[in-house]
Amino acid sequence: MPSIYLSPPDISARDHASVDAVLTSNWVAPVGPALDAFEAAVATRAQRKYAVALNSGTAALHLALQILGINSGDAVVCPTLTFAASANPICYLGAEPIFIDSERRTWNMDPELLEEALKTHDNIKAVIVVHLYGQCAEMDHILELCARYEVPVIEDAAEALGASYRGRPAGSMGTFSFFSFNGNKIITTSGGGMLLANERDQIERARYLATQAREPVAHYEHKAIGYNYRMSNLLAGLGNSQLTDLDRRITTRKAHFDAYQRALGNIPGIDFMPIAETNAANYWLTCLTVDPVISGSSRDSILAALAQADIEARPLWKPLHLQPIFQNAKCFGGALATQLFDRGLCLPSGSNMSDDQRQLVIDTIRYEWL
Ligand SMILES: *Cc1c(COP(=O)(O)O)cnc(C)c1O
Repeated sequence: MPSIYLSPPDISARDHASVDAVLTSNWVAPVGPALDAFEAAVATRAQRKYAVALNSGTAALHLALQILGINSGDAVVCPTLTFAASANPICYLGAEPIFIDSERRTWNMDPELLEEALKTHDNIKAVIVVHLYGQCAEMDHILELCARYEVPVIEDAAEALGASYRGRPAGSMGTFSFFSFNGNKIITTSGGGMLLANERDQIERARYLATQAREPVAHYEHKAIGYNYRMSNLLAGLGNSQLTDLDRRITTRKAHFDAYQRALGNIPGIDFMPIAETNAANYWLTCLTVDPVISGSSRDSILAALAQADIEARPLWKPLHLQPIFQNAKCFGGALATQLFDRGLCLPSGSNMSDDQRQLVIDTIRYEWL
């Protein structure tokens, strides 16, 4: 068991009180007032008109793709440097994922390569843009391209709640967007997600599909195949109190990033994830790369030293085009994501990590150069 985790849940007395209030009210049935309040609060934060709370971010992406009419024979674009959940729902619908390499300014989807994909494939029916590690992709360029090719954009903002791009909140920019409230994310409902859009019909459709496609009659009438994808009112109670703490969490995680950068940034061959000047990140995880030649150390040797000290750290996401399940998928570029994966790691970044714990992480890494 590690003594310092990468990004553990951060639960306060206020969270206990909020969940307890829901239990006391007996609104433990799936939907209820805490759920409505959570949807409204997240929609406000993301400057969205409509939102539906779900049991995962993955479910949100599945519903978004289905509502956009994605089917077998269609292709959907997704960055290669991301978690598999950004692409799996494409396959649930029998469509084909097309992967795109990262760019250097934010490590997110490279718009030039996206344009190449759109130019050469007329069956692309949606583009999933991921805001990785809490920093938005180059949205102006991506939105302009997708508008030109008339392809809807879904923002995978699972890691980016509270971040913004040119003053626009993560999750406010695509046709659809979604957040995750999984246990390791910046706020958590233990498991959960939310789908957001500005068209009432789209979110009402998602709400209907997420509740077993029940027609509004007493006798359980069904005209479509539905899912059991709603978040419960009890977990929304936790989400409401967690959300009130979001700004403090961003400040704390940014302080971790700044402290790591001050302590390690001057080591030759260590480079921190760049933050583009267009972006205000939420600093979900502090990520850096280790050049094995210049540094005289390596990512793996640092990971081993941290593991030895009971500190949890991880490589960056393994690019999807390198995953066995996607070995036959198309990928535009891929060399940069591969290099980031070979050299990159994520450091403990939790909003409940103490300064002493952070110093132990720093000392353990610096010891590699003593
Ligand atoms: C966590 C995550 C998801 C999936 O969210 P769940 O709520 O765990 O289903 C999707 N995309 C990215 C980039 C994530 O980090």
